[in-house]
Amino acid sequence: MKLKSFPKGGIHPPHRKNRVYSSDDLNASLPKIAVIPLSQHIGAPAKCVVNVGDIVKEDDLLGEATGFVSSNIHASVPGEVIEIKDQFLPSGRVSKAVVIETKGEFSRLGKDLDKYTWEDLSNAELIQIVKDAGIVGMGGATFPTHVKLTLPDNVKLKHLIINAAECEPYLTSDHVLMLECSNEITEGLKILKKILDPEYIQVGMEINKEDAGDKLTESFKLANLDASVVFLKNKYPQGAEKNLVRAIIGKEIPSGKLPISVGVINLNISTVYAIYEAVVLHRPLVERFITIGGGAVKNPGVYRVRIGTSARALIEECGGFNEEPVKVIFGGPMMGFTVFDLDVPVTKGTSGIIALTAKEVKSANTTNCLKCGRCIDGCPMGLVPSRLYKLIDHHQLDEAIKSGLNDCVECGSCAYNCPAHLFLVQKFRAGKSIERRSKGAK
Ligand code: SF4
Ligand code: SF4
Repeated sequence: MKLKSFPKGGIHPPHRKNRVYSSDDLNASLPKIAVIPLSQHIGAPAKCVVNVGDIVKEDDLLGEATGFVSSNIHASVPGEVIEIKDQFLPSGRVSKAVVIETKGEFSRLGKDLDKYTWEDLSNAELIQIVKDAGIVGMGGATFPTHVKLTLPDNVKLKHLIINAAECEPYLTSDHVLMLECSNEITEGLKILKKILDPEYIQVGMEINKEDAGDKLTESFKLANLDASVVFLKNKYPQGAEKNLVRAIIGKEIPSGKLPISVGVINLNISTVYAIYEAVVLHRPLVERFITIGGGAVKNPGVYRVRIGTSARALIEECGGFNEEPVKVIFGGPMMGFTVFDLDVPVTKGTSGIIALTAKEVKSANTTNCLKCGRCIDGCPMGLVPSRLYKLIDHHQLDEAIKSGLNDCVECGSCAYNCPAHLFLVQKFRAGKSIERRSKGAK
């Protein structure tokens, strides 16, 4: 089988993909207290529509989208709103959050859900369902999906590309989702085919998920859906949007442009599943599959988790720590966010919680740049990370922008290769954030 890939750079960190789960026991325990942030998407936070003391049902609206790229927020558990407070998000930002003490009856849990037909709905009605359900990009970008699905007039979509690369070490939740829910994903793709009418539907995944790819292909055949699975080399960062598009259709998305500029819309596989749940089950986005792993976790696993559950509760569910972690990360170890408080809750963009031991974390003192060029070899975007680092360090932000800072996808390949252990990605994030603030963005 000829495997596709992106042409420049990339690295091969150890996979450590210890895929452990049980089909019969996929649901994590329900949180006693759910802390549900009103900002789980890029764009303006949702406007709180509940008050302390309110009793809410599962799936009730807690926060209403307030702008073009904002998104609704729903109750992941039934219960009483006991507090509305400031809460640290995995990214370190602070958001208002609705705190629910779980009580009362679940309207859906453990029950057979009605399935609704959607074939006769208009595209505008389907997009409205996706918007109402608060669906955002679940690969981490958290861009509201209804905005992506609204194509400009007269644009004919060529490729709908589904990102199932899951190229970060440790993460296996998309893999499990595909093995467990291939028929539901297929129906989600049929809904997307109706909305977007693409010429091609391609699901890209690393070859380490061949069993999931075969299962999806079988499902497409049974459902008579003209879609294909494209197997990719195991190479990081295969799932970065530009790399995925380049690997699958051979075209570069120009600097500063969106995938639609080369005829592509790109969605994460978990997002496709959320679209299925919204349209067929009339269910908003209140839970997701996540990986709980890393060497410090006693019994790592993949679980379907309610939004608002804390990292602490999930780690306890996995038997606790077998040794004190030196780092706990939301997301994967390459692009995820280190958290310093286990009470940080799972949000719509959380793909994993990874607790790493000292042995797993490469810790060493930083030195001056050795001018070895290994960061350049690793960069999939063709940048010169050592130069970007130096420019930002010397407050020459304009030069850094001219040298492609905004093309950096923060994949961490350069830092992984760097023998001087420089904090390259942190420097690039800081540089971008200063630039955004200088333009008046938050
Ligand atoms: S973090 Fe940025 S500069 Fe470093 S390898 Fe990735 S894209 Fe290149
Ligand atoms: S890999 Fe590190 S030490 Fe080598 S050139 Fe790049 S920044 Fe300098």
